[in-house]
Amino acid sequence: MTNQKIQIQQILRDNKNWGNFMQVKLYNTLTKTKEEFKPIDNKEVKIYTCGPTVYSYAHIGNFRAYIFMDNIRRVLKYNGYDLKHVMNITDVGHLESDADEGEDKMEKAARKENKNPYEIAKYYESMFFRDIERLNIEKPETIARATEHIPEMIEYVQKLIDNGYAYETSRGIYFDISKLDKYPVLSNRNIDDQIAGARVEVDKEKRNPYDFAIWIKAPENHIMKWESPWGLSYPGWHLECSTMGRRFLGEEFDIHTGGVDHIPTHHENEIAQSKGATGKIPAHVWMHCEYLQVDGGKMSKSLGNTYTISQLQEKGISPLAFKLFCFTAHYRNKLNFTFEGAYGAQKALERLYDSYVKNVNGADDVEEDVIKEYEEKFLSYINDDMNMPGAMSVVWDIARNTKKSAKFANLLLKFDEVLGLDMKNAEKYLVKFKQNDSEELPAEIKKLVEERKNARAEKNWAKSDEIRDKIISLGYSIKDTKDGIIVKKEN
Ligand code: AMP
Ligand code: ZN
Repeated sequence: MTNQKIQIQQILRDNKNWGNFMQVKLYNTLTKTKEEFKPIDNKEVKIYTCGPTVYSYAHIGNFRAYIFMDNIRRVLKYNGYDLKHVMNITDVGHLESDADEGEDKMEKAARKENKNPYEIAKYYESMFFRDIERLNIEKPETIARATEHIPEMIEYVQKLIDNGYAYETSRGIYFDISKLDKYPVLSNRNIDDQIAGARVEVDKEKRNPYDFAIWIKAPENHIMKWESPWGLSYPGWHLECSTMGRRFLGEEFDIHTGGVDHIPTHHENEIAQSKGATGKIPAHVWMHCEYLQVDGGKMSKSLGNTYTISQLQEKGISPLAFKLFCFTAHYRNKLNFTFEGAYGAQKALERLYDSYVKNVNGADDVEEDVIKEYEEKFLSYINDDMNMPGAMSVVWDIARNTKKSAKFANLLLKFDEVLGLDMKNAEKYLVKFKQNDSEELPAEIKKLVEERKNARAEKNWAKSDEIRDKIISLGYSIKDTKDGIIVKKEN
């Protein structure tokens, strides 16, 4: 957005002149409606995102949720807002089942890999951020690790006990949901029905079946544990987010994001805790990203269909092509991942880059009104609860336009503030796959070229050289030029 436009938006906002202001609309899971977004502070938007549990490589389903997070950031920034955004790293306390059952995922992974859970956390966190960078996802302003906020968490538990919302059992400190005016508030589940239908009540010490652990007493062999008024123990996952949200954003902030699986338990329980500690629901808007499915079904380790970003790269699908693939569905709809679809996105991304480069060098004249119309259409889509498929339809209209103009290139660059497809470096991604316009390179060579590109992006020069040698041994030459990578069959 131009500086002048941002200033106008700012004045309208400051005067709460919402009517004349190009309002951002967001769907709020709490009210189950699409609402006009009105931040608490007119300028700075405060956001909390539930981050990864770092016990394993994050998969492409997880990254759909972080691409969604990136969209929220970029759309708000495009509208002239500053952000104060916190994402946590869950490095302790996330049990195998979200409902307090099973082992801590970190400890289980540590045992399996014969490592210390702290090493596991450090390694998978670094792998997570490596992929975040590959996807050109903006990193939130604050990254908060659970293990670095234990004293604040103990304080939070104590407050809940003092306020009469929590009690001690032999397993830990539990939240008493019967003390709340209403539970649940976020999901539609009817807990009376569920209680009536429940087959067994596992923990006889709990006052109510839906009471949940906020603080867990550590078994002897649990490595991650801390001294507390309740003995050696560790935090519950829900408590971590409530504590860190309050620590960095205060008792009330604007937006809380996560995946749809967070609605019935994790976010419900975060709200319960905040109501117990401060009397308030912490966030005004609760936003949730639907699932990425694979071949029309669930993604799961046992089905062997949980792909990582690296695995896609090995198959010639770049991280940014996966990002573009995610824009084919609205975040509130399920998205079905297939390799066919992903290869399609790869081709589409190359076409988009190609169009951008042609527009940079294009000499056609385009009326200002045409640019303005595209701009307004794009803005109305992104501000309508982040309608990315709609926004992409505008992008494709421009890319397919037979006119090629520097004005279009500038517009695509501007839209890329929201898309984050690294358009300014389009040239770098373009591979001249064709020796001449009629001869396609074989798939095997294309794949190697893609792998070499990835190795170079990661400054893995040894791997890049190794792949180049392989390409040459197959009878092709490969050159990096200012116009992109040129691959040719040698005679
Ligand atoms: P976790 O690391 O398991 O806590 O999950 C990280 C994020 O990924 C959470 O926001 C989840 O809701 C989200 N998530 C997990 N599986 C999927 C999926 N298949 N599609 C979309 N989001 C997912
Ligand atoms: Zn969380």
